[in-house]
Amino acid sequence: SEIPVGISACLLGAQVRHDGGHKHSRFCTGILAKHFSFKSVCPELEAGLGVPRPTIHLRQYDDGLRLTETKNGTDHTQRMRDWITGIMPELAHLRGYILMAKSPSCGMERIKVHNPEGNVIARDGRGLFADALIQAFPDMPVEEEGRLNDARLRENFIERVYAYDD
Ligand code: SF4
Repeated sequence: SEIPVGISACLLGAQVRHDGGHKHSRFCTGILAKHFSFKSVCPELEAGLGVPRPTIHLRQYDDGLRLTETKNGTDHTQRMRDWITGIMPELAHLRGYILMAKSPSCGMERIKVHNPEGNVIARDGRGLFADALIQAFPDMPVEEEGRLNDARLRENFIERVYAYDD
């Protein structure tokens, strides 16, 4: 297929998670790879956080959300935002995007938000990269991988990708 669709790199089996692991998704590399030509992206790796890396999460400060290390609060927000600004033009041609759930970078919904001390204060956050992607391309079909496990939602996503033309 020539239809370009972005995807969180760990879903294709790339060992880019904080612990050097992956989240290989059989139906992404199986069924969906027949329909799409994947562009694999790992925001945390590409922003320079390295593999392995300390775990990170979202913290709410007065001036907005920050991406910090879970243990000591080391702030990686600016590094991630700078990378996001640079990568967005390279994603403009994509016809859809599949995101890994539960990630403070890639997660689309229900991401935990912490206070500056690191305690959970909300569970309705969105990863920094996912949020920027959806704001930059509001009409692009974007789904979390877990939802595409459902055959009906998967068919619907494929149809929307075919219908979406930037
Ligand atoms: Fe990288 Fe996103 Fe996968 Fe985390 S969820 S390992 S940032 S691609």
